[in-house]
Amino acid sequence: MEAKNYRDLLEQLKTYFPFPVSNPIMDAYFIHTTSHFLDYVDALKSAAPILGRRERKKSRDIPGVGFPEAGSSVEEITELIVDYCQDMIVWAHPNAQVNVTPPISIPAIISAIASAIYNPNIIWDAYSGRFTQAEIQAVALVSDLIGYEPKTSGGLFTFGGTGTILYGCKLGIEKLLGGRGMRDGIREDIKIVASETAHYSKLNAVAWLGVGTRNLVTIPCGRDNAMSLPHLEDYLRRAFRQGEKVAVIMPTIGTTDAFGIDDLPAIVRLCDSLVDEFGLDYKPHIHADAVIGWAWSVFCDYDFQNNPLGFHPRTLGSLLDSLKRMGDLSLADSLGMDFHKTGYAPYISSLFLTRDRKDLSLLSRTTEQMPYLYQFGDYHPGVYTLETSRSAAGALGALANIRLFGKQGYRTLIGHVVEMAEMLRERLEQHRSIKVLNDTNHGPVTLFRIYPEDLDAGQAFERELNDPAYSDRLKFHNAYDRCMFDLVQHRSMRGEGVLLSWTDAYRRAAYNGESGPPISALKSFIMSPWTDLAAIDRVEEQVLQTQAEAAHKCGVPPSR
Ligand SMILES: *Cc1c(COP(=O)(O)O)cnc(C)c1O
Repeated sequence: MEAKNYRDLLEQLKTYFPFPVSNPIMDAYFIHTTSHFLDYVDALKSAAPILGRRERKKSRDIPGVGFPEAGSSVEEITELIVDYCQDMIVWAHPNAQVNVTPPISIPAIISAIASAIYNPNIIWDAYSGRFTQAEIQAVALVSDLIGYEPKTSGGLFTFGGTGTILYGCKLGIEKLLGGRGMRDGIREDIKIVASETAHYSKLNAVAWLGVGTRNLVTIPCGRDNAMSLPHLEDYLRRAFRQGEKVAVIMPTIGTTDAFGIDDLPAIVRLCDSLVDEFGLDYKPHIHADAVIGWAWSVFCDYDFQNNPLGFHPRTLGSLLDSLKRMGDLSLADSLGMDFHKTGYAPYISSLFLTRDRKDLSLLSRTTEQMPYLYQFGDYHPGVYTLETSRSAAGALGALANIRLFGKQGYRTLIGHVVEMAEMLRERLEQHRSIKVLNDTNHGPVTLFRIYPEDLDAGQAFERELNDPAYSDRLKFHNAYDRCMFDLVQHRSMRGEGVLLSWTDAYRRAAYNGESGPPISALKSFIMSPWTDLAAIDRVEEQVLQTQAEAAHKCGVPPSR
């Protein structure tokens, strides 16, 4: 670029922004650019559940290394953005069964655009106008859904499910310390309790909060991937007898791998009765990690008798079972819920909810400590949030979907993905050499192991789980399944099958405690409303074909 007067450059740069006052011509340019982007991306779509590569003329203007001296045009950067969409999984694709990542509704996308254009910061209503109302309303509507009193509950959108766990633990710690932890820090050992299959972000929370990972108490799970209540009771009795302080018990409502659901009502009952029995002067805070499972609450008042939505009996059984295990979510003192998982909103949309909004004052700073903020307005969440700047996109995306879908829409979406997963489990269960692992946990996720064709999967799995003498075979089967998984991925990338995922350790063998060998699994996680029976048949077909291929590609088992 010729050296120009900065004023000329500035005139050009102004065309890079949406116009601040009404200007239909510049708005048309904005829309044209967006529509161009969509066209380019469209050309990347194929039968494979992934955006393909495109042949593109090499642009000499796109710099390789080094911070660029001159800029580029809006058109060039639009094309550049398209390049970064390559290799991206299309979550809505019927052949994408990868993880708990949803396709995004149009209004939730518009919410993100609205937040991007007008750039609200919900640290404070003075910087976010009515966007703050979206947060307040989403908190109230979700409170109503799960049974908190919306007039007294509180909450905020934070930086992920991990953030909700951090808030839940911090609140429990401050309750235990009478709010002194904010000033004095944590000067003693205090315990945080979760199950072994609880999400690993529990480790982040205890490490970052200064509790220390050695104070994280991990309770073993039963075959249903739920926290074992006798083990929890044993631990709590021992802890209370010795005067250990238990700040938080964190049940998981829907584990990441197997959709295991801890028995929240039983945990609350147990905790209450032990607090009485030991005459404690505090109560452990119960934070339910419902980042995945919260959405099942839309079925609390579904008419299961008449089944107006026409779900398959297997689906009804599954939904009822999940509801029974979750119990009443309002029994938890606080909850974490991800709308970017089972809420069909874009990242990041994570709600931290507390039964009693007064609890949030335990996390407050005083306004004198923040002199540049809060001189006016009447919504000041920045007083108690860990974040300083906070996007409104999470709150608005969640609210948009709550209003868009209602309970009926969410029942349809969640009911459908559970129904498809049930159909898949039904198909897989028919094969002698395939073992469905989460046969007692019912959600949109199916974990399964495939064994060489001559093996009885049920028997092999029993031995893997319980017999230390079988650990070599267990290791071989892990590797064999990994090899199968790679073969399946290959097919899927060629547009010939379904994209699945993989977990290295869906659980550990039941011997040697926490150092028992890991048991890995193939994983199908269905989230798309476009996943249909044809896609389910494809998984079965592709697994059987790959099994035949694996016989000569995936090694021979060690002799017994
Ligand atoms: C995904 C997940 C988390 C972490 O949530 P992010 O939104 O990814 O930070 C926590 N707990 C469970 C059970 C999860 O599945």
